[in-house]
Amino acid sequence: MVDKPPITFEVVARDGDARAGILTTRRGIIETPVFMPVGTAGTVKGIRFEALEEELDARIILGNAYHLWLRPGIEVIKKCGGLHRFTGWERALLTDSGGFQVWSLGALRKITEEGTQFRSHVDGSLQFLSPEISMSVQAALGSEIVMAFDECAAGDAPADVSRQSMELTARWARRSRAEFDSLQSNALDTGQTAPTQTISGAQALFGIVQGGAHLELRRESLSRTTEIGFDGYAIGGLSVGEEKSVMWRVVTDIAPELPDAQPRYLMGVGTPEDLVEAVSRGIDMFDCVLPTRNGRTGQAFTSRGKMNVKNAQWALDTRPLDENCNCSVCKRHSRAYLRHLYLSGELLASILLTHHNLAFFLDTMRRVRQSIRSGDFNEFRREFTEGLNAFEEDKAVGNTEV
Ligand SMILES: [Zn+2]
Repeated sequence: MVDKPPITFEVVARDGDARAGILTTRRGIIETPVFMPVGTAGTVKGIRFEALEEELDARIILGNAYHLWLRPGIEVIKKCGGLHRFTGWERALLTDSGGFQVWSLGALRKITEEGTQFRSHVDGSLQFLSPEISMSVQAALGSEIVMAFDECAAGDAPADVSRQSMELTARWARRSRAEFDSLQSNALDTGQTAPTQTISGAQALFGIVQGGAHLELRRESLSRTTEIGFDGYAIGGLSVGEEKSVMWRVVTDIAPELPDAQPRYLMGVGTPEDLVEAVSRGIDMFDCVLPTRNGRTGQAFTSRGKMNVKNAQWALDTRPLDENCNCSVCKRHSRAYLRHLYLSGELLASILLTHHNLAFFLDTMRRVRQSIRSGDFNEFRREFTEGLNAFEEDKAVGNTEV
């Protein structure tokens, strides 16, 4: 039992910098590259766990320490046996540390060496979150993968501000690691399982590389984070309002430098095109609210690009959202019907669009994995990216019969 890791990760195929891998956690095996649906408040908004498990075969979803800590509160979740038992989701969970959510509160927060003070978005009460509190919250949630508590600088922050933030993140990473280890040795992780031949049954802890748009700071953050030692590594602080070119400069430079033998996670990214591009640079794990959030606002992601279901051009269109999609929504319903549901304010519109969008994201990753394994990733990437422009091209030439 001594020395067994909490997770194992094996790269089973490579195509250029793209990797296909097998991530083994205490609650299941996850093939990578993987997209993780976001389940902020203990629910992936607009979809039942049955659909996520049975039809979409999502192996891992996200939970958010910040949101669950404020509501329903950690005492409720602990008394109900941890987040798996509380929600009924029995597969793997990754929990975000709360660093990003607190950052996104902007002016409402105050950062000190000790941690961050902020006002709750739920009731306006004054709250304080630190690396130690975040680790104890995530132990109580009992997720398979815990994220270190970090500080995120704005994407366009100048070098001195980004440096301070990166250095604070490095000190908080050390404190996260120490507190995490102490919680594990005191058996405070509610998700603990019996050890297997290869893994310990404990939680895994991922470190986060920060440093804003500045490559020298990113590299320093990378070396300071890997020096502490984590079970996996994330690139944080991207997709936070910076130019897309900045994000790609950072990912292109940093992703291949992350330890090869461990999973690499690009936090909060992105569009289907972003996922495929990041895979080409060696990223293994992703999360993003786009498929669920946009599903609720009437936007579908398809192999021909994004479509707004409310547009008049779909009023009489009896084809499915995406003719290349095999999901249960595309098998049964037409664009015309989905448009009608959306314009009528029907709850089902959000449910069906969310389902299709998640199916499209997860199926894209399945095809990415297959193409890496068969050595056709670049061909897949070119065809996929070209396909995403089809609606736009049709519009440009005035063809509404797309
Ligand atoms: Zn579909």
